[in-house]
Amino acid sequence: MKFELMSLPFEKTALEPYISSETITYHHGKHHAAYVNKLNALIEGGDYADKPLEYIIKYAGGAIFNNAAQVYNHDFYWHGLSKNATSCSVELSDMIIKAFGSEDDFKKLFLAKAAALFGSGWVWLVLTKEGDLSIAEFSNADNPLRHELVPLLTCDVWEHAYYIDYRNGRADYLENWWKLINWQFVSDNLAAIENDPLTGYAQVCNEDNEVCDYVDVMQENERTPS
Ligand code: MN
Repeated sequence: MKFELMSLPFEKTALEPYISSETITYHHGKHHAAYVNKLNALIEGGDYADKPLEYIIKYAGGAIFNNAAQVYNHDFYWHGLSKNATSCSVELSDMIIKAFGSEDDFKKLFLAKAAALFGSGWVWLVLTKEGDLSIAEFSNADNPLRHELVPLLTCDVWEHAYYIDYRNGRADYLENWWKLINWQFVSDNLAAIENDPLTGYAQVCNEDNEVCDYVDVMQENERTPS
């Protein structure tokens, strides 16, 4: 399988003045593209050549993992941005309040963790196995899929994400990144988990246990990668 660089879900100028078209030209057109190209070169003819991206992230190591995760992480980052005003679903909003106290407390905690993450990495809003929201920070390419966490939103704090526009001002980048979050995307991710028979935290088995049987089969497959 040859992976392709995703098309941006907005024009290069759409996020200005907070993220410039010059930043996007480099970040998407050079950095993100390089991860896609390196991944394709690394997997060609090997065990991972025909595997989905999520599988490679879960089971590969070294350079293959790093490039695969960076492709996934950047795809997630771009989808999480929008020039349009968006809002949380009622369910997402309720879960944020339950986990963090208020939406403002959530913002403060998320941005503080993003500001404090040493070096390069990613900060994520994730759903835990227990069905709770949590903020997870990972260095370099590391990714929630390796930690049995379901990703809902991510912020790229590698310097290449903000250096053109903000130089070393990561805090200013973060404050403005927050204004661009596509809450519809985050809400849709949460809703998709609920409806996923494998990971759905609101899982209810039906009378014939067809759903439970399906979950058992899928989980068995998860444990025995081919
Ligand atoms: Mn990046």
